[in-house]
Amino acid sequence: MFYHSTRSKEHPVDSAQAVLSGLAADGGLYVPAQLPTIDVEACLKEDTMSMATRIIGALLPDIENMDALVRRAYTGKFQSEELTPTVDTGHFTVLELFRGPTSAFKDVALCMLPQLLTAAKNQKGMDEDILILTATSGDTGKAALAGFRDVEGVKICVFYPEGGVSKVQRAQMVTQEGHNVAVCAVVGNFDDAQTGVKNIFAAAQNGRLPGGNRCRLSTANSINIGRLAPQITYYFKAYADLLKRGIVKMGEKVNFCVPTGNFGDILAGWLAKRLGLPVGTLVCASNANNVLTDFIRTGTYDRRRPLHKTISPSMDILVSSNLERLLYFMSGGDTELVAELMVQLNTEGVYTVPEELKNAIGAEFWAGCCDDAGAEQTIARVWAQNGYLCDTHTATGWAVAEDYVAQTGDNRPMVVLSTASPYKFPAAVLAALEKPEQMDEFSKMERLQNKTGVPIPGNLSGLQEKQERHTGVIEKDKMLEFVMGL
Ligand SMILES: *Cc1c(COP(=O)(O)O)cnc(C)c1O
Repeated sequence: MFYHSTRSKEHPVDSAQAVLSGLAADGGLYVPAQLPTIDVEACLKEDTMSMATRIIGALLPDIENMDALVRRAYTGKFQSEELTPTVDTGHFTVLELFRGPTSAFKDVALCMLPQLLTAAKNQKGMDEDILILTATSGDTGKAALAGFRDVEGVKICVFYPEGGVSKVQRAQMVTQEGHNVAVCAVVGNFDDAQTGVKNIFAAAQNGRLPGGNRCRLSTANSINIGRLAPQITYYFKAYADLLKRGIVKMGEKVNFCVPTGNFGDILAGWLAKRLGLPVGTLVCASNANNVLTDFIRTGTYDRRRPLHKTISPSMDILVSSNLERLLYFMSGGDTELVAELMVQLNTEGVYTVPEELKNAIGAEFWAGCCDDAGAEQTIARVWAQNGYLCDTHTATGWAVAEDYVAQTGDNRPMVVLSTASPYKFPAAVLAALEKPEQMDEFSKMERLQNKTGVPIPGNLSGLQEKQERHTGVIEKDKMLEFVMGL
């Protein structure tokens, strides 16, 4: 199956090469020339890992032995074999994506990506090492480090915005062990770090760094199709759970509300729909950085606004990379239009899509936003009324899902995606439940556990004792230099 860039149909590559490269040479994102078909009813009867094998195998057919790769990626790493359980809260259904090794939804994809990359590398007979470059708003970094740690033939380098991640997230990253890992803070915000990584790719020739370093560059951000494909599975898994509980009958549509940053998670939901899953509306939830809310409502994407630091930092993003893929698909594959819009975004910081495209997107997506105060109130209310403890990102999704129902009257079953453990953001979650006292973030974790009885995940409880190994901070124009020194 062939993949090409969102900005040009020239230079198609097979799906293994698309995973290896991450980003197309013209700066676009890889998209399949044609979407595959799968047997949805058969898929919905399977266990989660078999679903994953079928779905990822359909999107990346050139990567061999998918079943073995999937089992190696996930076995023993999540709290249960179902990987992503759903919880019936008495109101919305919550799809818990954070039961993996680093307590963030990114684990679903980043346990799988190393398997896909090394398989693709071996199949292509590539003998150079791969250098994974990743910018993170907090969660991708740790999940990628954990996934790629000590993987043969791969090095990984993670950049995070200094002061832009929670203390727990920072501790998770700077204590990372492994012989092939590097972590560095960048003075700036997530967009600066992401732009820095894109610039390094642009400076590389044929995927190789200038100078003597013989590594091939790739990325673990959701611009890599190998990261997006595994995220489709949990939409099927959630639907299968609703079928089993009798909440829907086969074919009845379900709405999903997704706390959104880079637009990868929600795009996976849209791909699930294209593969035939009965999905109704995809509700795109943003925090105060509501550039996507404005875009979906008006058709104008305008990044010329300040980036707000919020209590849901993994969504503090103004340039949502994966939206480019949606523009491609929804415009009927108009690479010229996408290329033009991306130039406008780069040079002017704003673009407006044609009316037809805006309407096509509006027919499948609904968007809303919720600020920090709203998220805190939601955490408190959902805990009091439903006995469910949400993290700040999930609370944003929950609040927007409620707005959606109130404003549209659409009463189809709603699944809210829960993207992080509340213990990754203990200060904010605790502050939602009681008047904050002076104590460090790890004490807040314990306090939250004592108060709610919800257990701290094992990977977070031992963090405080771990040694800090990666304490460097650099200016954003020094990122290339840093990478060349690895
Ligand atoms: C990454 C992340 C998101 C946003 O997902 P995108 O795929 O970037 O839209 C939401 N919540 C949490 C906790 C995350 O880590």
